[in-house]
Amino acid sequence: MAGSLEAKLETVADWIAAARHVVVFTGAGVSTESGIPDFRGPGGIWSRYSPITYQEFISDPEARRESWRRSRESYSQFAAAQPNAAHLAIAELERLGKLECVITQNVDNLHQRAGNTRVIELHGNSQWVVCLECGKRYPRAEIQAWLERGVEMPACEQCGGILKSATVAFGQAMPERETTEAETYSRACDVFIVVGSSLVVYPAAYMPRYAKQSGARVVLVNASETDFDHRADAIFHERAGEVLPRLVDMVRARLPALPEGPPAA
Ligand SMILES: [Zn+2]
Repeated sequence: MAGSLEAKLETVADWIAAARHVVVFTGAGVSTESGIPDFRGPGGIWSRYSPITYQEFISDPEARRESWRRSRESYSQFAAAQPNAAHLAIAELERLGKLECVITQNVDNLHQRAGNTRVIELHGNSQWVVCLECGKRYPRAEIQAWLERGVEMPACEQCGGILKSATVAFGQAMPERETTEAETYSRACDVFIVVGSSLVVYPAAYMPRYAKQSGARVVLVNASETDFDHRADAIFHERAGEVLPRLVDMVRARLPALPEGPPAA
């Protein structure tokens, strides 16, 4: 779709206002404006550190110690991050009754903190640490206190099992329930909006395809081009924090005002 940014936004706002089921899919790009680095991008963590796979983490104590050392160091940066204008706009879409759910590849909890209540996390949530033996969950902040007192490899208080961030590591299976839910919502929506994902990893790359196959309009808001651009109905190669608040304002202006008094019989 060509035309001015304003005209494109007006068109997409029409689609959202008329839609019955809108789904937003987010990747690292929605959180970079909150100061959270894109792990895979230039200057991202993986260009400085080689990732520790799930298999290394569970089988090699040295890898586990190194993983917690990195986690201890980067914690303050993640803990300080605040939802940005893009997160807030997506939360506003839910308050307006125009958002079925957010599907996210992010683990930063910023959608929930912005006010979204229906968030499907494909890669887990870094606010929690989980025991791989008994499943007991610990707030990440509590584990940070252990690390700062000198614990190098936290173990479960209940069973002594290995503790691991409740996020999906390289080489670890995707969570089944969340992946299935994400596919179901992607297939059932009529507008599918991708924000800040270059759609290169599984299952992210498939979700807009499912939506498109089911007849949904697909909107991309991403700084750079993606392999899906040629199939999208609208593309914004702009900052999410600029585009989304304007879009949501336009959606709000299209929705009927709340009725006054009791409805007519
Ligand atoms: Zn345990």
